[in-house]
Amino acid sequence: MTTVAVPEGLVFGADGLIPAVVQDRGSGDVLMVAYTNAEALALTASTGQAHFWSRSRKALWRKGETSGNTLAVASMRRDCDGDAVLLAVDPAGPACHTGSRTCFGDEAVTLAGGLAELERVIAGRATADPSESYTARLLARGLDHALKKVGEEATEVVLAAKGESDERLAEECADLVYHLMVVLAQRRLPLARVLEVLAARRRGR
Ligand SMILES: [Zn+2]
Repeated sequence: MTTVAVPEGLVFGADGLIPAVVQDRGSGDVLMVAYTNAEALALTASTGQAHFWSRSRKALWRKGETSGNTLAVASMRRDCDGDAVLLAVDPAGPACHTGSRTCFGDEAVTLAGGLAELERVIAGRATADPSESYTARLLARGLDHALKKVGEEATEVVLAAKGESDERLAEECADLVYHLMVVLAQRRLPLARVLEVLAARRRGR
């Protein structure tokens, strides 16, 4: 696991607090904004779990201590003038106490968030009625069938790229991505693993 260090040069307010922006490392979506202080930051660094300061309760709190929806912190960084902290996290569940994925609603903001949304929808269809959901039917028919679909959709991408409109190509690519996501769901491999491979390649590893 990554060790999470408290950024140096933070400028705390007169009340000892500093705002923390919490970002989902997988989707890039902003999950929540909260206040933190030196003690909460030190606890976050030593435990790897996000801690904050509640201004209403005047108390230190660990995110998820009652709900179980904890935030595993992958990194902490400061902004340009040191008066805000950014926490990149892997959330264990909905970040908002209302049950929403983020405090700014469920809908994905980023394009990667859209993929994460698709992953959640596909996982949810595993228990749906196959007569009512195409995804549920695909999942019920098993890995080999989904793999056959990936092969077919890949061929359709090739044909669209060679001789059809941009709109058709975009549709066929969407079909391919969707069926790849179904294969990931059947192998229970999180999308985050794929995104991590891509990120590592960008970093040249
Ligand atoms: Zn909230």
